[in-house]
This record gives sequence, C-alpha cells and structure tokens, in this order.
Amino acid sequence: MDIFAIVLKLDRIISDIFSGKLPEKAELPELLLRLSEDGQLLESFSERARNVSKRVFGNRVFLRGLIEIGNVCRNDCYYCGIRKSNKNLRRYVLSEDEILSCCSYGYGEGFRTFVLQGGENPAIGDDFLCGIIRKIKKDLPGSAVTLSLGERGMDSFRKLRQAGADRYLLRHESADEEYFYRLHPHPGVETGNFMDDAAVTNHARRMASLKMLKALGYQTGAGFMVGAPGQTLEHIAADLEFIAGFRPQMVGIGPYMPHPDTPLGRISDGFWTLRRKRMMTLGLLSILRMMDPCMLLPSTTALNTLVPGGHYEGILAGANVIMPNLSPVYARKAYDLYSGKVADGGESRSGLNDLKMKLEAIGYAIDWSRGDYIKI
Ligand code: SAH
Repeated sequence: MDIFAIVLKLDRIISDIFSGKLPEKAELPELLLRLSEDGQLLESFSERARNVSKRVFGNRVFLRGLIEIGNVCRNDCYYCGIRKSNKNLRRYVLSEDEILSCCSYGYGEGFRTFVLQGGENPAIGDDFLCGIIRKIKKDLPGSAVTLSLGERGMDSFRKLRQAGADRYLLRHESADEEYFYRLHPHPGVETGNFMDDAAVTNHARRMASLKMLKALGYQTGAGFMVGAPGQTLEHIAADLEFIAGFRPQMVGIGPYMPHPDTPLGRISDGFWTLRRKRMMTLGLLSILRMMDPCMLLPSTTALNTLVPGGHYEGILAGANVIMPNLSPVYARKAYDLYSGKVADGGESRSGLNDLKMKLEAIGYAIDWSRGDYIKI
C-alpha cells in the first residue's frame, strides 16, 4: 500500500475508534504494530486522546490511595512475584488497624478513594473486610472504596458491595483463552466454590467474575499487561475487542515487568523491547480513551517503573488517574509484583508535592474529588 493509502486508512480507523467503533479484527494488529514503532503516529494519537480527556476531565487527574493489604496468594501466576510458589518472599497481611491508619493518613492528605489490593487470599474473610469498609465509610466521610482482591465469588462480592465497596479492579489479564494459560497454570477440576482454598484462577471464572461485579453495581475495572513473553498483537486486539463489548468503567494496563523469581521472568521475548512496550502501552491508553471518553484510566506504577516519568507520559496519552502508594514501607517492599517496582508519591508529603509539581509542569492539577465514573 502506498503511503497515501496508509494515511487515509489510518484516518478512517482513528475516526472509527473515536466514534466508539473498533476497526475490523484484521486491521487492529496492523494499527498496533505501527503505533508501537512510529513515534509520529503515536504522538498524533496521544494528542487526540489528550484532547478528549481534557474535554471530559479538564486538566485534572484523580488520585487513588493504594494500600497493599497482603501478599499471601493462592494463585501461581507465571508472571507475578507474589505467586504462591515464590519462597523468596516475606508474606504479610495488614491488620485492620494498619489498613485504617493508612486510610486516615491518606484522608488527611486529601485522598477520597482508597484501593485495597492484595493477593487472592480466602483467609481474608468477608467479615474482616466488611468491617473495614464500613469503618472507612463512616470515619472518612465522602470516600470511595475500591477493592482489588481477585476472585471471591458472588456471595463475597455481594457482601462487600453491601458493606459499601464502590469499585472493583480485576484485570481480565487476557481475553484469549489459550494465552491466558500461558500466563496462568491450567486449573484442575473446577470446584464451583470460589472461596475454596485449593481453587485457582481460570479463564472462564475470571470472565464470570467480571460479569458478577458489574451486575452487582460495582464500577468495574478490567485490564491486562503489555509485552509479556509470547503476547502477540492479535492477543492485544482480542483484549480491545473484549473491552469494547464488556464496557468496563476502568481499565488498568501497564507494561509487563519481569520478576526473576517467576517462570516468565526467566524468559525473554525479543519482540517486546523496552521501547515497544512503552510505545504500545501509551498507544493503548490513547485508544482506550478514544473508545470511552469517560473511562477511568490509570497511568500505572508499572509504566512509571519502566520509564522514569512514565506516569506523566501516560497522562499525556489520555490517562486520568494516578494511584500513589499509601502502604506501610515494609509492605511496599514485600508486595513485590515485579522487579524495581517504584512505590512512592503518597506515603510522604514530599512525594505528593513532587507529584503535584510534576503534574503542574505538564499543565495538569490534582483533582481531590472521589472521581466516580460518570457517563456523559
Ligand atoms: N490479586 C489481585 C491483585 C493482583 S496484582 C488480582 O488478581 O486482581 C494487580 C495486577 O498487577 C495484576 O492484575 C497484574 O496484571 C499486574 N502484575 C502482576 N505481575 C506483574 C508483572 N510482573 N508486571 C506487570 N504487571 C504485573
């Protein structure tokens, strides 16, 4: 195809995405490839996405205080540093007091959303969590609570929702079933009991869980990693199609970061250079912003770890959320999802000031409101 035809085609694809329509399946991988290689094209995507974002959110970025409540996990995801088989890790679960004191510290700094994230651990019971959610809601009025605790099943999701949880992050990890099982062990027999200690994640259950969360009225977050070994642009195209159909209110995407104590951390994939992971992540943020102008779209810690200043690149590509870490220092070290995870910004006044100044430098400011998903 000559260059003129390519430009025309891309223009059509972009205006399709912009009007909420994904291009033909066959066209997506080609577009993704170009976005991950062509700096000029990426910049034009970024600019359009940024304008969309500005139209909906102004120059504001929502902050969420992240509290890593525990790293005990029954799953054995091949990419994740807190996988069950990793023995080189001190396991912890925060106490109710620790969690609440992280939240009240954050509240004092201005945070109005608290994200309780952790490994999939049935020993963290519903009563414990419901008590904490109720206390946050009562003692820190006007706060939103987001959970990110893996698959817990309908009963648990319902109880937590009734206790006041507003949002739930559960990345689908991959819409492609075959690829899902290159990231996660193939499960044994499905017991049907989500809180069964021996139960491990599987693709059908992951998808079913996302539907449950949405049906229960959670603002629901899906998402996936970019650039894990063996991931193809066709896989990413399938992820975008899934998102276009499922319409999550939030999407978490970030570059895959190797962790040496994991099976995938020892494999390298020459296609996914650092530059490509970075460009692809930014390009995807822009596509997602154009797909749903109102989407809550974090510029992730993983992106900020991959490239210094990654948070700000993400914002300029259309993201509108940053999640500073409010966990106690010992937990931040032990919540070791991947190597070199940077975890700052929220825990100290100077971290927050730094964030504020760097946002100002690119023409943005912190929005201290709850920042719910509002369809306009
Ligand atoms: N147990 C919860 C929270 C898991 S950690 C759950 O399953 O939802 C949150 C996210 O971190 C995961 O969804 C995964 O996509 C991401 N993650 C884990 N390991 C990673 C790695 N090595 N590189 C980049 N992201 C990773």
